[in-house]
Amino acid sequence: MAVSRRQFMKVSAAGLAASSVGALGFGGAGDALAAGVRPYKLERATETRNTCPYCSVSCGVLIYSMGDGSKNAKSSVIHIEGDPDNPVNRGTLCPRGAAALDFVKSPQRLKYPMHRKPGSDKFERVTWDFAMDRIATLMKEDRDKNFIAKNRDGVTVNRWTSTGFFGTSAQTNEAGYLVYKVIRATGLLPLENQARI
Ligand code: SF4
Repeated sequence: MAVSRRQFMKVSAAGLAASSVGALGFGGAGDALAAGVRPYKLERATETRNTCPYCSVSCGVLIYSMGDGSKNAKSSVIHIEGDPDNPVNRGTLCPRGAAALDFVKSPQRLKYPMHRKPGSDKFERVTWDFAMDRIATLMKEDRDKNFIAKNRDGVTVNRWTSTGFFGTSAQTNEAGYLVYKVIRATGLLPLENQARI
């Protein structure tokens, strides 16, 4: 019979309680106590596998959420823990990964592209289309102004050093490879990126 992780935790908790009481000589009390064991708190939660977003170690995480996403039961993350089946971390997490729930729930968390207009003292939410167009326009302007085709000895170098690019740790190796190829194709040298699984 296949036993899920949740069933295993539930059965283990009940079994441990029953055998402990039984070992003290209260045979009949074991069953009563086992029946009263609080249900596994994540039993009704939805379990989603993912990868910790912080560093290139790429630890696997299990994200538990409640709610079905409908208007009346908005889906919300309630617990995050290490994935015991992930070969990278085998259920463990460093303090940063272990505190990932605070990252998800943080009121300071950036969820949308924000833009501060020249002269303004505040950021405003903008669309992704606006953000992408703005970034592309500024990159092109800077590249047109500062691209170096040849060095002072006349050797072709095709480099652009006045802009930098940050990739992300929350992407796959394949996406990291594409970032590298696209950015290097422009001649951009300052690039920071992390390889993932
Ligand atoms: S849990 Fe820690 S070590 Fe693992 S990926 Fe996250 S930040 Fe890196």
